[in-house]
Amino acid sequence: MNETIKSTSSERPFQAEVSQLLKLMINSVYSETEIFLRELLSNASDACDKLRYEAISAPELLGETGLPCIRVTPNHSSSTLMISDTGIGMSHDELVENLGTIAHSGTKAFIDQLQEVKDGNGLIGQFGVGFYSAFMVADRINVISRRAGNSTAWMWTSTGDTGFKIVPADEEKARSVTRGTEITLFLKPDAKKYAETDTVKRIVQLYSDHVQFPIKLVDKEGECQQINSASAIWQRPRSELKNNDYEEAYRAITHAIDKPALTIHFKAEGRQLFAVLLFVPTQRPFNLFNQDRKGHVKLYVRRVYITSDAELLPPYLRFVSGVVDSEDLPLNISREMLQKNLNVAAIRSTLAGRVLSELERLAEETPDTFNKVWDSFGPVIKEGIYEDHERRERILKLSRFVSTKPDNIRSLKQYLEDMRPNQTEIYYLVGNNIDNLRSNPVLEAARARGIEVLFFTDHVDAFWTTIQADYEGKQFKSLSHGDINFDLVPMLNEKEEKEDRSNDVDDAVVIAAVKNFLGDRVSDVRVSKRLINSPVCLIASHTAPDRRLEKILASSDQSPSTAPILELNMTHDIVHAIADARALGKEAVAEDLAYFLFEQAQILDGEIPADPTAYAQRLNRLVLQGLQT
Ligand code: ADP
Ligand code: MG
Repeated sequence: MNETIKSTSSERPFQAEVSQLLKLMINSVYSETEIFLRELLSNASDACDKLRYEAISAPELLGETGLPCIRVTPNHSSSTLMISDTGIGMSHDELVENLGTIAHSGTKAFIDQLQEVKDGNGLIGQFGVGFYSAFMVADRINVISRRAGNSTAWMWTSTGDTGFKIVPADEEKARSVTRGTEITLFLKPDAKKYAETDTVKRIVQLYSDHVQFPIKLVDKEGECQQINSASAIWQRPRSELKNNDYEEAYRAITHAIDKPALTIHFKAEGRQLFAVLLFVPTQRPFNLFNQDRKGHVKLYVRRVYITSDAELLPPYLRFVSGVVDSEDLPLNISREMLQKNLNVAAIRSTLAGRVLSELERLAEETPDTFNKVWDSFGPVIKEGIYEDHERRERILKLSRFVSTKPDNIRSLKQYLEDMRPNQTEIYYLVGNNIDNLRSNPVLEAARARGIEVLFFTDHVDAFWTTIQADYEGKQFKSLSHGDINFDLVPMLNEKEEKEDRSNDVDDAVVIAAVKNFLGDRVSDVRVSKRLINSPVCLIASHTAPDRRLEKILASSDQSPSTAPILELNMTHDIVHAIADARALGKEAVAEDLAYFLFEQAQILDGEIPADPTAYAQRLNRLVLQGLQT
């Protein structure tokens, strides 16, 4: 195949968009210029792929050079960096077309965005913008290319301003490029680091370790050393891989030092092709509760690393790390496009569903391992209960809790199985720690009826419980919140049924008196159905947020806390004592008793009485009173 040498002038202008792009590139102060190397290597890799593909039907294209490979040659003394490949190469017309116009949709989108924003710097890294990004670091670029099977090699050269020049490569050059493309970057003074072996090696390993073709670094002596692993483990069949391979991959990909608790490896082969290798760590990473709630799943496109910011998993699965490698996405996909792209949306949905189903399986098959995972990541997974409406039921099903039962850990399935006759709701209590919760008086009536109460001690519990979630049609109900009535649920032990209250105490009168004493410290005083042995407890009103959430919000100044409701156990002697004191005209003693009960309830709830001195004085008065009688 011989090409006729074009008689037209060898000087050609760039397409207008290219000039526009280059102007931006050259004037940019974008600091992460190193992405140019990722772009050039991915082009080289594409070219090798294309050759391999064409060689299927025309094996002679492979010629003497054999299987394609990529070479990177930094040259410190001449301040140049050369990237060459023995891939498909470009003909004269292809050079003109590919390196003089913008055909690529990703780059077009970039230009469109540029029109909208003034500062294009942030956009460069997101888009990559292909071959032209090399002008960020080079003030002159030579490209010598020979299309596989062609007799002529061409030299394209440009300083990146208005256009480029294209001529047949001189004999010496033509001899060195028997097939493929050789790109020489004449580095700008401030980009000389790209002529250093170590820098180049680091960048190649960061971005292109998994490019499928060998990338060889050529040193000063002309020695070649392969610097990428050239094997994407996620592309290999599961049957070939051992546990150990996965553990090494886990450490290499995530830089973690523990072992994965769960490894998820599959290839999606529906409308879209992508390979997935994900890991659930054993240990909690230190930044799990960072504000940004960012995940660590790396997006690759055809073995080329794109970004770790694609948010391929919802924030509540941010502890999962690994790789997704798509065959369908464009390499220059931007952050903007990542948000809107339907293919990415489909990947997201597949991933979230798959991670949950693998966790479900782990819970079934190896509950011990699952419980460890839950222990480390449960508080994060539960964010999904209010964030992922679609998968709420599944997340609740995965959730594990400590409860009034002696088991260490309970599922909602177990809870429902153990519900008492006539019990219609799932009861819980929110608080700071399990021990405090266990001794909370509001549990008394539930305990007497054998009703299980779940303990919610994670920060996130105070939030998801506000959405009125249900599980299999059963509402969650806080024991320290609103009205509660278990009258229809039988007592475990009939003897414990409350004896009839003595008639000499008029509930309404005692309640009115206590309310009067406490004023606006409480929003209401009521007869309790929760208490059996303790005299009092505090609860939140039906319309108020849960007491614990209220405390969290109040501590972050987001809302003032509303006064709690005080519930009284009308069968308790101290409550009777209030009535007795008043009957004897000892109003001061009755008032001290009312305050004493209220402050005791506060302490049981983990609060400190507003005026500790007054509290101590009151208590002293009451003790002395008791000693006198
Ligand atoms: P993209 O790779 O997204 O198409 P680029 O700006 O990186 O955009 O490259 C433009 C085109 O130039 C490529 O599509 C390809 O056809 C051609 N090209 C670039 N580098 C090479 C190379 N090393 N070998 C063969 N063709 C190349
Ligand atoms: Mg490219």
